[in-house]
Amino acid sequence: LPEAPVEALQAADVAALVPRPHLDDHKYTRGVVGVRAGSAAYPGAALLSVAGAACGLAGMVRYDGDPAALDLVRAAHPEVVGPGRVQAWVVGSGSDTGAEDAVHRSVADGVPLVVDADALAFAALARGRPAVLTPHAGELARMLDVDRAEVEARWLEHARLAARRYDAVVLLKGRHTVVARPDGRVRVTTTGTPWLATAGAGDVLGGLIGSLLAAGLDPFAAASVGSWLHGAAATLASRHGPIVASDVAAAVPALVATLPTP
Ligand code: AMP
Ligand code: MG
Repeated sequence: LPEAPVEALQAADVAALVPRPHLDDHKYTRGVVGVRAGSAAYPGAALLSVAGAACGLAGMVRYDGDPAALDLVRAAHPEVVGPGRVQAWVVGSGSDTGAEDAVHRSVADGVPLVVDADALAFAALARGRPAVLTPHAGELARMLDVDRAEVEARWLEHARLAARRYDAVVLLKGRHTVVARPDGRVRVTTTGTPWLATAGAGDVLGGLIGSLLAAGLDPFAAASVGSWLHGAAATLASRHGPIVASDVAAAVPALVATLPTP
């Protein structure tokens, strides 16, 4: 791969890229994000993906995942509606056996998508599409058929390799997070806290990135802005003490309010 400079977003960059409503906007023009996540075994993953998507950066969130999680999603997020047209899909967190079908249907829709967790096994279906793949080191190792230790030893290189091989934006998450484009361009995330090492944090991230795609950001911008906001929201939330994943989603609006006005 050709060498490319490693970039890092600053708060001012994020402020300029984060979607804000215009006077003549309505819910559809702000973007509709759809979530296909969760299963009978993992209903909480549906809830947390929806929580990330429902931070207020898109105009509407649809839930089209396993019906087993529907009551839970509705109880926590009454504003979430049922299946229909969307501008972006979030697929995979806790999808279990439904992951392949969810990727197929989302790719067939032709809109940008986030591919996470169980759905990453079918990430090749999204090759060449406007997609963001969000593996942790173990998931990326499986995608590239290498050892996890190899990924951990050469983090940036493996993210770039996966982006090229899958012809999609790859966000490799963990202690460090990098976002790579197929052409080798890379952004590192400078926000975050080890308090994020908690179940469901990745599900929130996927939903958040999906909402940014629905609002019209391109996959590289959506992934890097989403990751920046996710890390900074976790830092903000953890000022009050230990956090769980839903606290990260809940802190995003207050974080956005602190961004400098562009
Ligand atoms: P997942 O593994 O899918 O639950 O995603 C975990 C999320 O938490 C990702 O956004 C990681 O970047 C973040 N995370 C996990 N552990 C750490 C850590 N030690 N330091 C910073 N961020 C972390
Ligand atoms: Mg995960």
